[in-house]
Amino acid sequence: MSPGKVSNIVFDKFYNIVDGKQRGSDNVHHGINPSTGQELWDVPIGSQQDLDDAVAAAKKAFPAWRDTPIEKRKELLTQFGELIGQYTDELLAVFCKETGKPKKSAVAEIQGVQYLVQYHCSLEIPTEKYEAEDKTIYTEYTPLGICGGIIPWNFPLFLSAIKIVPALLTGNAIIIKPSPFTPYSGLKLVEIMQEVFPSGLVQAVGGNNELGQQLCEHPGIGKITFTGSIATGKKVMATASKTLKRVTLELGGNDASIILPDVDIKRVAPEVVKGAFQNSGQVCIATKRIYIHESIYKEFLAEMVAFTKSIKVGSPDEEDNFLGPVQNSMQYERVKGFFQDSKKQGYKFAVGEPDIVAANKGYFIQPTIIDNPPNGSRIIEEEPFGPIVPTQPWSDLEEVIARANNTNTGLGACVWGKDVEKASKVARRLEAGSVFVNSYEKADPHGMFGGHKESGIGGEMGTLGLLAYMNAHVIHVYKS
Ligand code: NAD
Repeated sequence: MSPGKVSNIVFDKFYNIVDGKQRGSDNVHHGINPSTGQELWDVPIGSQQDLDDAVAAAKKAFPAWRDTPIEKRKELLTQFGELIGQYTDELLAVFCKETGKPKKSAVAEIQGVQYLVQYHCSLEIPTEKYEAEDKTIYTEYTPLGICGGIIPWNFPLFLSAIKIVPALLTGNAIIIKPSPFTPYSGLKLVEIMQEVFPSGLVQAVGGNNELGQQLCEHPGIGKITFTGSIATGKKVMATASKTLKRVTLELGGNDASIILPDVDIKRVAPEVVKGAFQNSGQVCIATKRIYIHESIYKEFLAEMVAFTKSIKVGSPDEEDNFLGPVQNSMQYERVKGFFQDSKKQGYKFAVGEPDIVAANKGYFIQPTIIDNPPNGSRIIEEEPFGPIVPTQPWSDLEEVIARANNTNTGLGACVWGKDVEKASKVARRLEAGSVFVNSYEKADPHGMFGGHKESGIGGEMGTLGLLAYMNAHVIHVYKS
């Protein structure tokens, strides 16, 4: 096994990475800097041929990697984790331009990749042994082979790594397809990995949505791990079903946050606001509906409004911003639709303006709270994926639990209360993959992350997340 040949990486030219080598294309597209509206660098649109070549290279690389002891795989992953630290400044510059994220959030995402590596390297692949008089049954796990990872635009680095790291650790090869909105840092991540890993093991073929479909159709690929919207997730599953590929689907959510009457209002209200507006609301598990007990509704909302007014929104060039722009024009227009609808319906804007005024050509939107819109309204029913969130009062615990669960999604949820036991009891009744008591939604690799209902199938992180990249391989050994 020898590592790929890419060295002297530059951060102003972008390539797909096939069989350890940079690959361009005559067919290119480009992202837009969401802080300025300016075009970013050209980036190749991968073709069916690029994908076929990547699958062929992965097939070649897979057997040796499958047979490489896990300790050696961990050694290389650890080297990669250290290497990415050396490229932090270069990655940061690209990443802030393509996502518009404030520097602090961007640094946190790069550190998150390193943490993912460390965490996964602390895991072991489980085995089981059943002993009977006449036989022993060994349950072991073997890698699936070649995986395809399809990435959305909201966390291009972290959500690439969350697929690449467990796939490699478990002995698979993986090809990722970054989002056409944020292709740059994901491609560079894979290019950096060529310094450590054998050619063909981790590859990137970027392009448009059709390429995503081609990945799902490809007969040489055994699993698709997809993060994105519910609508696309359904298409991925339908396409992947033709070759009975395994799928992990990490999809959208409409997280409820229930505020019990005994909370410390001044401490909790700002945290709930952060949960709703983290990454300008463009987080699958951001808080998207806030239910406040009626006895504290006014006071709690007033604290939320005061904290929201203190939030600074701007481009990554300004140091102390908490939020950046919405990432792309399509999403900007979609989020504006929620403002227009709320205005048209006459809902009360507790903070924020109904009419969004464009600033500096960037897709900036001030965080906005809609005070008590009715059930059935668009802002309650749908995921805006932007900095706008509704609050509603509640009086009966059973009724608010039912209201929180009354959705086709089930990704995350939060419960806030001084009585932790009582809050935890409520948490256990919320239909969501990850429920947080006295914290807003912060995914932690120690717990598997996945959705209930239409928020997904399977999940990532934790030992269960690892096993999603493996087949059970059960060996029945008779003693005579
Ligand atoms: P999207 O579904 O539009 O696109 C995601 C990816 O799928 C992109 O790379 C896109 O090119 C590709 N794609 C598009 N059509 C395809 C097809 N027919 N077949 C295969 N691939 C195809 O999602 P997005 O707008 O990039 O991301 C936002 C959504 O992602 C939100 O709904 C958000 O909640 C969700 N999300 C979920 C998680 C999670 O872990 N559950 C995390 C982040 C984002």
